[in-house]
Amino acid sequence: MVPSGGLFVPESFPQVDLKQLQSLTGYPEIARWLLGLYLTDFDSSSLDRIIKESYSSNFASADIVPLVTLRNSDINILELWHGPTAAFKDLALQCMPRLLLYSMEATEKVDRVLILVATSGDTGMAALDGFCNQDKIDIIVFYPDEGVSVIQKQQMITKSGRNVKAVGVKGNFDTCQTSVKQIFQDEGLVRLARERGCVFSSANSINWGRLVPQIVYYFWAYNQMVAKGKLCWGEHVNFCVPTGNFGNILSAYYAMQMGLPVSRLICASNTNNILTDFINTGKYNLDRPFHVTSSPSMDILISSNLERFIFDVYSKDGDTIAGLYRTLQQKQAFSVSDAVKTKIQSLFYGSCASEEEVFATIKHTYDTCGYLLDTHTAVGYAVAGKYRQQTGDNTPMVLTSTANPYKFPADVYRAVTGFQEDNDFQVVHRLEQHTGISVHKALQDIENRKVLHVDVIEANEIYSYIKREVSE
Ligand SMILES: *Cc1c(COP(=O)(O)O)cnc(C)c1O
Repeated sequence: MVPSGGLFVPESFPQVDLKQLQSLTGYPEIARWLLGLYLTDFDSSSLDRIIKESYSSNFASADIVPLVTLRNSDINILELWHGPTAAFKDLALQCMPRLLLYSMEATEKVDRVLILVATSGDTGMAALDGFCNQDKIDIIVFYPDEGVSVIQKQQMITKSGRNVKAVGVKGNFDTCQTSVKQIFQDEGLVRLARERGCVFSSANSINWGRLVPQIVYYFWAYNQMVAKGKLCWGEHVNFCVPTGNFGNILSAYYAMQMGLPVSRLICASNTNNILTDFINTGKYNLDRPFHVTSSPSMDILISSNLERFIFDVYSKDGDTIAGLYRTLQQKQAFSVSDAVKTKIQSLFYGSCASEEEVFATIKHTYDTCGYLLDTHTAVGYAVAGKYRQQTGDNTPMVLTSTANPYKFPADVYRAVTGFQEDNDFQVVHRLEQHTGISVHKALQDIENRKVLHVDVIEANEIYSYIKREVSE
């Protein structure tokens, strides 16, 4: 985050030559090429090593990010969840810690970084895994005791590693997040840490280091669409992205700005459809109810990364953006100019899916294509269909799949079979028996793993907990 408020963005987008993409084949190669365009001050062989370590056998698929074509459907699915924690966040969080360590060593300004994460979902586990056993870095993930799924919690509290901790915080996600955010602003604690050669950092999605690695899979998807005969070089593609914090789809927009031939970005929301309304009306309006849905990673009203996009469509006019976000704070809403609205609509299409549509989409896709969608990807699938129907645009479509179905097994099982089974561990086995689709490697036997992190604290104890960590 920029000290005066606001977020860091690149000064300009490096332009790519499609011929170069055409000459690259594997995911790591494409990642190396694109990261090299941004990280120009990184030593070349170090970047080679970082990419190699980030995207290899830690992923459960040799393709790293497989592009799956379905029978009886012309929507192509980009599976982003083959990483070590079965989260799409792995794509950024396997790479970012290594980039951070390199920067620390190159600048020699800090001895130790303490990563503090407040999470309600997959970020916590993906961050624990990404930072696990990295030199000079420790990580503490605070999760709301009442606000993560049984499977997500089990993943975190069983995570081993000499520098990782997962701590439950009594209460809901907001309490947990607010208390962790206060640490970053606590001058006394920040100073104390500094005196001991330690700085705090976060791993949240507003971190620039998480966005760059995400640009890679859009280029990779394009390459794979051509390899599978679905596209010719130079032809346009559409991406449909189930959105929460606007990070994933912002990376798609950046890919487009770098010269990837993308025609339209389809922004898919669940019933928390603030972005659908924004794209269609130009008004971002927080004054609305918050819905708890079956796609919890998209239950977000303040999409932090949207600010970066608006900055770009306002031709990088920082003062105007600061004004809009002040208005948002004061009046719970802001509106963009008509010219900007028109520009946004030429780039994006926004729509949303209701809970009924999500469950019907999972069932229909399983019955007709034999493919199991998770609840988040189902939001995208439903919206991709609406886009096609409403616009008649038949540009080849790639849908980014953000979660493996076994991450949300109870809802997926209910959608497919009509039966409710509330024990999350039990339902994983039921779903596997019913569909014959194997459980993701990262989630196998998860109920039998040894619990290593037992701390559960009050929100007002977070301060002293961290102070103790720093003082040790
Ligand atoms: C994080 C997450 C999202 C939202 O991604 P953004 O980058 O915040 O838009 C969507 N689906 C799943 C499963 C996620 O974990």
